[in-house]
Amino acid sequence: MNSITVKAPSSTANLGPGFDVFGLALDAFYDTVTLTKQKSGISIVTTDNIPVIPSKNTAGIVVQHMKKKFKIKSGVQIKIKKGVPPGFGMGSSAASAAATAIAFDRLFGLKLDDNTLVECAGMGERASAGSIHYDNVSASVLGGFVIVRTKPLDVLKIVPPSDLRLVVAVPKIIVPQKKTKVSRSVIPKQIDLSDSVINLSNAAAIVTGFIKKDSELIGSSIKDIIVEPSRAHLIPGFSSVKKNALKAGALGVTISGAGPSVISFATTKSNLTKIANAMKKGFRTKKTDCIVVICKFSNGAKTI
Ligand code: ADP
Repeated sequence: MNSITVKAPSSTANLGPGFDVFGLALDAFYDTVTLTKQKSGISIVTTDNIPVIPSKNTAGIVVQHMKKKFKIKSGVQIKIKKGVPPGFGMGSSAASAAATAIAFDRLFGLKLDDNTLVECAGMGERASAGSIHYDNVSASVLGGFVIVRTKPLDVLKIVPPSDLRLVVAVPKIIVPQKKTKVSRSVIPKQIDLSDSVINLSNAAAIVTGFIKKDSELIGSSIKDIIVEPSRAHLIPGFSSVKKNALKAGALGVTISGAGPSVISFATTKSNLTKIANAMKKGFRTKKTDCIVVICKFSNGAKTI
């Protein structure tokens, strides 16, 4: 085999109280990555507005890491077609990294296990977030709902209920270059034990909801009193978007990953169009347009 193409989905991280631990793959946007063997070196081909220097691109870093780790001599060309908008908290850099890790594994017949694939894809995140975190890449690689344990890395996956629906609003604003770094810097360094207890109880309820396939329990447990309040001011209109969506019947609303996208949790029984319009109206209070996508979970990256 000389060439392989893999498609990897967008994802939402945190789901409220599961900061840096929870991820959910979303059937909303996809990145497509084609790896082709070449004589030597690593080159990136793309028409999208992302870095083309391998050491600055999440896909390039994954290839650098995997070539070294598995002693692969061949050169690799990386062709990237972005579907996940970069910098909006939809796991864009992670989708490229996830697709690349899987493509590399298949192209060189490595037959890696899930945790190793996630570890390799996670190396790429250093380029965009400044630190390695595995929530988006785990969801994008494995699909469904994921719980990330570190030291050692161990990712648990649960298949979400089929009636779970998400309404994602991606505001059309200019995001700062180092957005993830900025949004991590505003999080409190110390928290009250009582706040941590409340967040932990909601996080546990979310996991229970996924295990019991209870979308209402998942949605009504999307409550974060630690990270969300400290980041809300970075998103124009966040409080209106959230209030409107809840009024329109969303079960829970929070920031998607490091933002600025906002995500509502609902079920097939909800009036999803009403929630979508309510979120749009919320952003409009700050004269901000947004793209709204109604979706379900994704089963993760796939060769095509
Ligand atoms: P997201 O949640 O969309 O991944 P981040 O802020 O974490 O948002 O990542 C976006 C940043 O990562 C941008 O600065 C972008 O230039 C950089 N980046 C590097 N490689 C890629 C890639 N392959 N796809 C998307 N963004 C990338």
